[in-house]
Amino acid sequence: RRVMAPSAALQSASLAPQGPGQKSVAVIGGGAAGLVAARELLRESHCVTVFEQGPGLGGVWKYDPQTEQDDPLGLRPDRQRVHSSMYARLRTNLPREVMAFLDFPFDALTMQGRSSDPRRFCGHEEVQRYLEAFAEAFALEQHMRFNMRVQQLTPLPHSQLDSANGLDSTEQGCPRGQAAIWNGASNETSSNGASTGREYSQEFDAVVVCNGHYSQPRLPDVAGAAAFPGRQLHSHNYRENSAFAGQAVVVVGASASGEDICREVAEVADKVYLCARSWQNPAWTHETTPIGQRANIWRRPMVQALGANGSVTFTDGQTLERVDCILYCTGYQYAFPFLEDAGVVSIEDNRVSPLFQHIFPPTAPSLAFVGLPWRVVPFPQMELQSKWVARVLSGRVSLPAAVDMQRWVDDRYRELDAKQVPVRYTHYQGDAQWAYNDWLAEACGPDVPKLPSWREAMYKATGNNKRDFPEKYRDVWRDEGLVEQAAVDARKSRS
Ligand code: FAD
Repeated sequence: RRVMAPSAALQSASLAPQGPGQKSVAVIGGGAAGLVAARELLRESHCVTVFEQGPGLGGVWKYDPQTEQDDPLGLRPDRQRVHSSMYARLRTNLPREVMAFLDFPFDALTMQGRSSDPRRFCGHEEVQRYLEAFAEAFALEQHMRFNMRVQQLTPLPHSQLDSANGLDSTEQGCPRGQAAIWNGASNETSSNGASTGREYSQEFDAVVVCNGHYSQPRLPDVAGAAAFPGRQLHSHNYRENSAFAGQAVVVVGASASGEDICREVAEVADKVYLCARSWQNPAWTHETTPIGQRANIWRRPMVQALGANGSVTFTDGQTLERVDCILYCTGYQYAFPFLEDAGVVSIEDNRVSPLFQHIFPPTAPSLAFVGLPWRVVPFPQMELQSKWVARVLSGRVSLPAAVDMQRWVDDRYRELDAKQVPVRYTHYQGDAQWAYNDWLAEACGPDVPKLPSWREAMYKATGNNKRDFPEKYRDVWRDEGLVEQAAVDARKSRS
């Protein structure tokens, strides 16, 4: 018996494993990754408990009008935290066909009775409803424990034995390398996210970390930022544009959120300066022509310094005399506060290390991370990752030896170094996501097909359309043939 639940609240959460390959598994987080991980673990007959710190499922898609007002740059670890980074008028930057899980189409039939937004590039509420439909279809809520924040994960002694002896654990019924036991200590939280003071502790055979990585702001080091008299906030704390009326605003960072937010702000602001240092497209930084329908958005290179008089100087030497607000759309940091004392992974400049295939620490593969790669289509990739994790845990597929997994990690870092890819791009995929997805499908076994080719083609068509029509790509498109292929696939998945 490996499940030890010292409280009645947790006892009902997880049935004890019945068979040799079954494991008791804690999933941390009830967003898209946690939901699909739970579904795949249950399919593989594991006993699953999903811990979610908030009152409901959905993760970032559960829109929260609250912001971290007391610390809008997210600098203080003790601030009152808000998980979601969605802004009120956000529309997806991927079409719903591409976003969907593999056999759960994001279409009118699935959304019947729930949908209020049939657009291909829909608002956040529609995605939240899709995730609710997913949880309902696979009866996931009964495995979820809401208002439970995992505070600490501790590998218990014989997981350390795994790391010491190269995963040669032979505990009866456990596949090689899977005998680690984790103690998960969680805190009950109240509706405002604060701890109620009630603490629980429970042991699990394995833990799947699905806590998301769009919540902890990542900020550039800007000279003079502390003395700048204007407002400074991170996009994590942006919800709508009214506070920017008539202002001069500098938006730092021009990825998906930066571009969208800059257009929203420009509807009411006097002038908006969108600046970026693009590692992949250095030519971009020299462009200074106005963009956008109102022609009040100007491109600039990165900010070099902020002045105590409200000025902003860019890296090309130009200075704006008076800026009211700096809005940082500079991305997010991975954070696993509950693993800080476990000594299994470390984070250096957004590299979570060491992880085999972005998922398993070589010396403790009873811990898994789902959803780390970025610049990817997340839902279907997280589904493939979860299938692989579930099968590894049950012993249906096996991992390489720890030394080989570590070698993979080392080789990869050497390769990134040789190509002068910054460390913070370790989990970046972009075009590489398709080969990675194929690798995952293959690793799962012959019954898991690769993603159908229309998904990659539609993703690329969307990218091209966005490049050609940045302001209209969500409403005007040229990939009807692919939409039809997606519909055929949806029909097949229902038959
Ligand atoms: P999350 O959704 O963040 O879920 C993590 C969950 O873990 C949360 O519910 C959180 O409360 C919980 N949690 C965290 N720590 C703990 C703890 N210690 N204990 C218990 N629970 C914990 N993707 C797309 O496919 N299309 C888009 O158009 C798109 N647009 C986006 C726009 C924005 C502004 C952002 C921020 C993201 C966007 N994404 C988009 C990416 C999006 O993050 C993924 O689609 C996906 O929702 C990630 O799911 P997740 O489960 O990994 O993380």
